[in-house]
Amino acid sequence: MPIFAATPRYVQGAEVLSSLGRHTAVLGERSVLVADGIVLELLAGKISTSFAEANMPLEILRFQGEVTHAEIASLAARAKASKADVIIGAGGGKALDAAKGVARTLNLRMVSVPTVASNDGPASASIAVYDANHVMVEVQQMKRHPDLVLVDTAVIASAPLRFFLAGIGDAISKKFEAEACAKAGALTLFGAPVSFTGIASANACYQLLRTHAKPAVDDVRQQRVSSHVEAVVEATVLLSTLSFENGGLSIAHAIARGFSHLPRAANTLHGEHVAYGLLVQLVLEQRDATLVEDLLAFYDDVGLPSRLVHFLRDQPTQEEISLLAEQSVLSPSAARFSPQVDAQLLCNAIISVEALSK
Ligand SMILES: [Zn+2]
Repeated sequence: MPIFAATPRYVQGAEVLSSLGRHTAVLGERSVLVADGIVLELLAGKISTSFAEANMPLEILRFQGEVTHAEIASLAARAKASKADVIIGAGGGKALDAAKGVARTLNLRMVSVPTVASNDGPASASIAVYDANHVMVEVQQMKRHPDLVLVDTAVIASAPLRFFLAGIGDAISKKFEAEACAKAGALTLFGAPVSFTGIASANACYQLLRTHAKPAVDDVRQQRVSSHVEAVVEATVLLSTLSFENGGLSIAHAIARGFSHLPRAANTLHGEHVAYGLLVQLVLEQRDATLVEDLLAFYDDVGLPSRLVHFLRDQPTQEEISLLAEQSVLSPSAARFSPQVDAQLLCNAIISVEALSK
């Protein structure tokens, strides 16, 4: 039996941040906001005004920058002291995950306000927890999804282009990953088979990106919101999440996990890793050469990486390719693929991708 899981309310548009208070007021009576210093400097004024207009009290908690168990516990203690019933996370992925962690600890209503569209985290129930050395230690699940996801596209379009591109990378793979999960008979995060809704979301996500990504990237380069930007953000923040939670993740995301073990790829982004991982998956699937070439042309057009040199700033060594393959195969996503892969098969596929995209 399929299980459909999603956020119950998603609000997107230019300047919607000014209505955050009104949208949050239906969820509770006292809110706390978790955000880092940079986001507070940019947005605290606008957010505070929207809460004042909604006659709703708002307390601001400064996020220290890493989603550790200790930071979540500290924020939760302060949220509890303020008697909050709603917690809002605003920022990149980490402030949102810290707020999700507090919601999970205290069973609060939770609002996600992403300020970049670089990944599929904001609307998901997943929380990536790290240690003090910034190494991911576990992925927790919230008891419920974020109760509201509010995405101000004017804020998204004014963030650096690289984040917007990474979001496209994280989303472009979802159609192929959901198809791979369905073929393998794999289960989603909720222990259910891939649903038709998951597959439909992934297809819609892919089509929106293929139609709108190029003009949207040109618009974001000029910090301009347009119908293309709106379409891409809906694909990368909403549909991308519906796809992976209801369709599942496969080889593209397994490879993304492997990247975190390559020291020379430090400071490259998850969505960039997924874009590369998709090429590895398509080679493993022995897809038609024209499909792969078409996708490579798309990557080139929008500015997504297609070779390891783009991550390592130099040609990869054989050791790096082997390490990437060995670490990727350990990811649970590697098991959602049929036929089963091992490190050697992944290694060969990576070498083929390197030869493909020269
Ligand atoms: Zn992802």
